[in-house]
Amino acid sequence: MFVAKRKDGSFISLLDWKTREDVEHLTKGEQFFCPACHRTLQLKHGQVRKVHFAHMNDSCNASSESETNYHLEGKAKLYESLLHSNDKTTLEHYIPSTNQRADVYTESGNQKYAFEFQCSTIPKSEFSKRTQLYESSRIKPIWILGKEKLGNIQPQMKFSPFQWQFLQRHTPRSPPYILTFCPKTSIFHYIYPTFSFNTSTTYISTATSKVWIENPNNMTTPTPSWKEHFLHYKKKWRYVYSLYKPQHLLRKFCYAKMNIPLSLFPAEIGLPVPSFYRIHTPVIEWQAWLYFDSIFHTPLHSIIHVPTVIQNFKRRIKNSQITIRELPLIKAGSYEDAIVEYLNALVSIGALKRETPIVYRKIKKELPFSSLEEGCKQDRIVLEYLMHIIQS
Ligand SMILES: [Zn+2]
Repeated sequence: MFVAKRKDGSFISLLDWKTREDVEHLTKGEQFFCPACHRTLQLKHGQVRKVHFAHMNDSCNASSESETNYHLEGKAKLYESLLHSNDKTTLEHYIPSTNQRADVYTESGNQKYAFEFQCSTIPKSEFSKRTQLYESSRIKPIWILGKEKLGNIQPQMKFSPFQWQFLQRHTPRSPPYILTFCPKTSIFHYIYPTFSFNTSTTYISTATSKVWIENPNNMTTPTPSWKEHFLHYKKKWRYVYSLYKPQHLLRKFCYAKMNIPLSLFPAEIGLPVPSFYRIHTPVIEWQAWLYFDSIFHTPLHSIIHVPTVIQNFKRRIKNSQITIRELPLIKAGSYEDAIVEYLNALVSIGALKRETPIVYRKIKKELPFSSLEEGCKQDRIVLEYLMHIIQS
């Protein structure tokens, strides 16, 4: 911590001093207290930036993170950066009503923001609780992942379930992003997931900014093309992954109900949808369950009723065949968006026709494949056709 309470009740911030000698001189023999729990704090010496306060023992109910140098450095740089564009910025702002200490706090117009610079993994329940507490005080939490925690930013990333929680979206129309901050460069990185094949491959586009912007726009680098990579993955899925143990249930279901081996699944399964990030289960798997449950057996020219599709999907979630991602920072919409987008993708490729928002009609029968090569060939035709439609 950089901020403590003095005996006279005033606050002292170590960032107000530039050198270590100054700090030592001005604070000699003084006692300091935690603004939250009022316990005595120790002044810890290190490098200039790393002079900080710490509790004697690690227990303080307002802080859950033992502070590493990286966290201290990040918090200080974040504070400087935000202060630069908004003078209503405070460091380690204590909120008595919820007993929380925001790393940095700012107000802009009527909006209050609490910045959490997170460098260690915290449990999902803790993440949600802290988010809800801020929101209950009408403060918008801005969760920032320490850049070190994310590692190198590359066109293809593997996000952990912890990192996915940072996905945030501030207007229903803007794309969601994960925000990270690097204390070494004082640069904000906005990471926009563009498509995930599975839990280990997510394509991203990025934007960087020297200042924090709530809704950045038109500054992203173009998304690298994932099409060939995905087609290759789909091919591997047919040849190899469909035989793996985790696909056991899907394989059994596919063979028993559809009378086809899973490797020959219709090319209509595994289409990109904008809300892909809502679902943790890999795209081919969740779409396979959906297609097999709700579309495969529908006779040609018969209707597909969206509430029934959703109901079937919910049953798969309940039985743990499909896992939804909990995204506490995304308020609008739900995983059902991904379902409807998938049905619309099937409309785009001519498999379905949309009659009303809740009624679709099957207008094309899926091609039966006699070989894996045929399946792969069809995967390419379908994906290229869909992407051509999306782009035009
Ligand atoms: Zn305390």
